[in-house]
Amino acid sequence: MISRIIKDENVRRLRHLMADATKIAVICHVGPDGDAIGSSLALAHVLGTLGKDVRCIIPDATSALLMQLPEAKELVDAARHPDFARTLLRDADLIFCLDFNEPKRVDRMADALLAAKAPKVMIDHHENPSDFATVAISHPEMAATCYLLFRVLCRLELLPYVDATAATLLLAGIMTDTGGFAYNSSDPELFEVVAELLRHGADKNRLYKLLFNTVSENSLRLNAYALDRKMEVDHGMHAALITLSRAELNRYHYCKGDTESLVNRPLSIPGVVYSCFMREEEHYIKISMRSQGDFPVNEICAEHFGGGGHINAAGGEYHGTLDDAAAAFRALLAENKRKYIDKK
Ligand code: 5GP
Ligand code: MN
Repeated sequence: MISRIIKDENVRRLRHLMADATKIAVICHVGPDGDAIGSSLALAHVLGTLGKDVRCIIPDATSALLMQLPEAKELVDAARHPDFARTLLRDADLIFCLDFNEPKRVDRMADALLAAKAPKVMIDHHENPSDFATVAISHPEMAATCYLLFRVLCRLELLPYVDATAATLLLAGIMTDTGGFAYNSSDPELFEVVAELLRHGADKNRLYKLLFNTVSENSLRLNAYALDRKMEVDHGMHAALITLSRAELNRYHYCKGDTESLVNRPLSIPGVVYSCFMREEEHYIKISMRSQGDFPVNEICAEHFGGGGHINAAGGEYHGTLDDAAAAFRALLAENKRKYIDKK
């Protein structure tokens, strides 16, 4: 038995909203990862089985690998079909907001989401949710939105509708957000949920291969180049930094997702407590940070890079050149060490 964490009041309100809804839109955060895609498609699949008319919107494209998840072809990419995505939000009579905590995380769809008249149900595990949803099921202590969504489905007595497709999608999110049970996964109940998903037919082996052991030749070479030529390790500061410019990315025919796990790699060096990866996008620098233990990269991303996230995995943006972004990060090293490492 897993414990009850979702408030009865929220379960009751959710039941009512779902009973009244026929047209449902599901939307997740920009740069959708396995948890965002897995939770969106799993919920859409279950609601579809119940006879609802459901569409899933992603603010922009996801990686080619995640597009191989079951039913990913059904996703409406708002970057490619903005008008259609807006219409879906406008005409929905219920909107689920999955794996994000504030409207700006849906990027170009934020105005359409806020303008939509339908009640909004947030199911999410990021800290500091903003107050935009009609029903907010926010549990930052949950390792993944998919894990939380499984609990929501349990409470709604919808577990019989979790078939092998839905179970595989839910497990995809759990495996993504725990790095294949490497971190954020010491909660014994998580494994009870995983056991249940396996009983429902989740294809763990296929997911493992897809999420952690499939890479294009270009991506493999780009990552090797980044680690060999672009990784700076400051042992004294317990930090690592990798930057990749547009020119470097283009040289390796960069596709979305190709540098997905790169930021984690320096953390395997003994003594490196946090790692930063900066990727030059067209109009800004995308920042990703990862850390070990109680070093809070979300605080650094929130304070200095207009972002946020979780204590060990966070991100943000820098508006300026890649060199200036790197310099800004290096300038923080001594202060970070004093604040977060020496204090212990
Ligand atoms: P990633 O480095 O994989 O892009 O993101 C790691 C984590 O940080 C994710 O859980 C994501 O929610 C959060 N994150 C990434 N970028 C941003 C951002 O620009 N703003 C906020 N608030 N969170 C972010
Ligand atoms: Mn997530």
